Amino acid sequence: MIRVTENFRKIQDLLANACADAGRPPGSVRLLAVTKGQPAERVREAVAAGQRELGENFVQEAMRKIGELDRDDLSWHFIGHLQSNKTKQVAERFQWVHTIDRLKIAERLSRQRPWHAGELNVLVQVNIDRDPAKAGAAPGDVRELAAAIAELPRLKLRGLMCIPEERAAGEDRREPFRRLRLLAESLEQEGLELDTLSMGMSGDYVAAIHEGATIVRLGTALFGPREKKGKQ
Ligand SMILES: *Cc1c(COP(=O)(O)O)cnc(C)c1O
Repeated sequence: MIRVTENFRKIQDLLANACADAGRPPGSVRLLAVTKGQPAERVREAVAAGQRELGENFVQEAMRKIGELDRDDLSWHFIGHLQSNKTKQVAERFQWVHTIDRLKIAERLSRQRPWHAGELNVLVQVNIDRDPAKAGAAPGDVRELAAAIAELPRLKLRGLMCIPEERAAGEDRREPFRRLRLLAESLEQEGLELDTLSMGMSGDYVAAIHEGATIVRLGTALFGPREKKGKQ
């Protein structure tokens, strides 16, 4: 039996404590509840407890869940790898996209964003460890990509996102998050207005908060283990 409500309250306390330890104002970090692989009833329980921002990785699963939850006060964040042929659904149904790593995808989202929906909030995903097997823009390419995205009419560039490699015990877990923060700060100095760092998951969010995360993306810490990956 997974107690989502209890987990939700505990996580709120842990986030507040991490903010206090880091010398940051309470509430300066938002929880994004990652619902991939989680049944709708667990998601409903989190919403009943007060959670409003939900993250999904797969378009088809997300469309089903958005329909099942059927509330207009939820904010859906796309956090998976986005293919060109799925951008229209994402542009129509999500409020945020965390995983932009090439201009072509951003241009499609901007063209396809419906006028009634307001600007789509986007983050540039950075391949912070320069892992050739991972998604994300190379750190050296982020400046040019971010500047181009900031010019697109229907998108609002809010900041950066990363998924670092797992660090072994004893390694400095804050180091990749620090590099993402410094990269964002250098973009701000060049005139981009950024207010969001999406970094930290169930295993490393405290380290991310110490380095300035404003959104932590938690799945298993809130909902328990995911169901086997179904059809995407
Ligand atoms: C699945 C996922 C998460 C949540 O992972 P947990 O370890 O379950 O907290 C966060 N961010 C992204 C991009 C994910 O794909």
